[in-house]
Amino acid sequence: MPTLVCVPITVRSIESALGDAREAEMRGADLVEYRVDEFFGGDDAEGEQIVGLVADSPLPCIVTCRSSEEGGAYDGDDDARVSLYERLGTAEHPPAYIDVELATYTRSANIRRKIDLAVEHPKQLRDVHTRLILSMHDFGGRPPDLTRRLAAAYAEPAASVVKVAYRARSIRDNLELFEILRDAQKPTIALGMGEFGLMSRVLAPKFGGFLTFASLRAEGVTAPGQPTIDELLNLYRFRSIGRDTKVYGVIGWPVAHSMSPLVHNAGFEAVGHDGVYLPMPVAADENDAEASRVSFDATVGAMLADESIGMLGASITIPFKEIARSARLPGVCGTDFNEDVAEIGAANTINAEWATAEGHAYVSASLSNTDSVAISGLLADELERIAGATIGIIGAGGVALAAAYAATTRGGNVMIFNRTLSRAQKLVEHTNRPRVSGDRPGGSFRGEAHAAALSQLPESRCEVLINCTPVGMSGGPDPDGLSIPIPDMTNIGPDTVFFDTVYNPIETPMLRAARERGCRTIDGVQMFVRQAAAQFELWTGKPAPVELFDRLVREALGTRH
Ligand code: NAP
Repeated sequence: MPTLVCVPITVRSIESALGDAREAEMRGADLVEYRVDEFFGGDDAEGEQIVGLVADSPLPCIVTCRSSEEGGAYDGDDDARVSLYERLGTAEHPPAYIDVELATYTRSANIRRKIDLAVEHPKQLRDVHTRLILSMHDFGGRPPDLTRRLAAAYAEPAASVVKVAYRARSIRDNLELFEILRDAQKPTIALGMGEFGLMSRVLAPKFGGFLTFASLRAEGVTAPGQPTIDELLNLYRFRSIGRDTKVYGVIGWPVAHSMSPLVHNAGFEAVGHDGVYLPMPVAADENDAEASRVSFDATVGAMLADESIGMLGASITIPFKEIARSARLPGVCGTDFNEDVAEIGAANTINAEWATAEGHAYVSASLSNTDSVAISGLLADELERIAGATIGIIGAGGVALAAAYAATTRGGNVMIFNRTLSRAQKLVEHTNRPRVSGDRPGGSFRGEAHAAALSQLPESRCEVLINCTPVGMSGGPDPDGLSIPIPDMTNIGPDTVFFDTVYNPIETPMLRAARERGCRTIDGVQMFVRQAAAQFELWTGKPAPVELFDRLVREALGTRH
């Protein structure tokens, strides 16, 4: 049976709950869950209204009056809410399910008797009778007695569905939730709460989960980390996820606002690739690089090595690009770093592959850097010849390093202008050092890099100038700043190319100034799309729909503004 999509609705008034249920139906939900604990205070008349709500519900429903012990708002006595369940179960139009906490159900013989009566009422000789979901919620983390509690829930004859939800503290927690679904003795819901648990919600169909929850609106989330129904159905294409769906993601900290899920999921759909791409947050400590490295290795290793997940690729973003260069992934048999990664000292892409040898399946991983592929592709499109051209790079961080490598490898000469001159000098040393692999085959000569103070930028003579600092970035240290002082520059003309790696906003103050001087420009969206396209091609073996990628990113950034 396909995994159902359920929209939880916090009932505050019957009219608004019915309105939300109609909207949930329109947006593609299979059922709704009426959370009545804010509405119901134990009063008979309130109970009557809830019976009416269920009778008028446009979709089959779950009703739950969640106790404050398990994250709900109900703190009245058990008798009143158990009587509500009994009344609902024996009503003319009973809900499809009532959800009762295992802790409540097993608290007394009287409660158990009443709930049993609600789900086994003799009048219910029809299809529409109520079934019992026995649930357990833990907002702190995985309960230490999880196995015992699960066994207790499965052992209850009255339970038709067992639900377990707890706060995921790492994306690794999803692996246990998937194991619970694989070993389920009855229809089961196993969900991780919080941003680390998103994967358990989206991949539930892969492991035969009974249902998943999705909120109607971003602001109406009843449990942290819940996707909206639009995200679930349209971004993650939930209905097309099955056992064999391959999993990809963006690994970073934070990753919630990454645009990579938008382009890769749409791309998979466009080329007919059975894959889904998810944000994969991995906690990092900016003051402790070693702790971040341990976190990266352990998490990524565990995800790749779990064959049932079928994770075949990932994008790597801040702050793990440099850490990934020396990744040691437990459970992964062989990690290969391509030449660009070895030279740049940073990776942004993982490509994994499963193989079988002597009856054992094993996974291997290769790491590459598509930032430099994107930059060299864009330079090659813009310049007649990169070889011999002078390319100015502003900044001396990770992207500047990839740009310097891309340009010099193809014979370009590079000037690094940076606020901290010593850092620019270090980058120059790194770029000019003998390369591990020698020069590129084909005999192309390598360009040289030189460092200069930022104050020398106005008098510089470069065919291309690339901003690799966050200056001009919305939300960055200097959103209104000009990363390159174009009005003060004397040696530029209509053929000078200004390239900004910042993509939010699409037209940064520097790009606007360049356009106003009549110069050529490359924006950060073009770079983002190129690096994503190169990843997509590695993973799918198919050409990336770059125009689609470009349109989606520009639309999304336009909306964000
Ligand atoms: P990074 O390693 O942190 O380096 C940032 C560089 O910017 C440093 O050299 C720093 O100078 C300089 N800088 C920071 N604030 C400055 C300021 N207010 N004035 C002058 N210089 C300043 O960053 P990164 O990873 O290389 O990323 C750089 C930019 O690339 C990001 O902001 C991002 O927008 C863009 N990016 C774009 C894409 C894409 O696909 N389009 C992908 C990745 C990154 P000091 O050395 O003096 O500290």
